Amino acid sequence: MNRLKYFNDPILKRKNKDITLFDDHLKKLILDMFYIMYNDRGVGLAAPQIGENINLFVIDEFSFPKENERHQPIIFINPKVTCDPNNTAIEDEGCLSFPGAIIPMKRSLNIHVDYMDIHGLPQTLDSQGWQARIIQHEYDHLLGKTLGDFISNIEKSILRKKIKERKPIFSMEDIREKLNVNKVF
Ligand SMILES: [Zn+2]
Repeated sequence: MNRLKYFNDPILKRKNKDITLFDDHLKKLILDMFYIMYNDRGVGLAAPQIGENINLFVIDEFSFPKENERHQPIIFINPKVTCDPNNTAIEDEGCLSFPGAIIPMKRSLNIHVDYMDIHGLPQTLDSQGWQARIIQHEYDHLLGKTLGDFISNIEKSILRKKIKERKPIFSMEDIREKLNVNKVF
């Protein structure tokens, strides 16, 4: 399985290509991405973060659902995000590729996304608030922009020393079930 890329890995800054083949290989990659995202307690993950320079990210704003919340996994392939620049807010963000870093980021509160689903069918989504923030963060990854742009190399080397490998809490079967229950696969 692919592994997470951290800090100054050049793969995080490379150009990402559009996906044209909607096959089992893509499906497997997406499954791996959800596996890494859920097991690393993330709410989003972009393909370059696991070493694939393609235009793909996954999110689940309810990665760890509280009592009255439900999982909401979404796959975005070849996305184009349009932001409302007049309606923004600044909130702290973290990133699985920069563990330990918390950066205040200005984001649009309302966005529109055109993308493809796992079958290659065009979809649209109007998103607000927290989910819109996650989408903008992941979309930035596809443009080669990361929270790392706001962290000095000294800070990065301090954070790097603190990276801890965590034991996976979900098996691949658990992940499959989450995605099937939510009709993503
Ligand atoms: Zn990130």
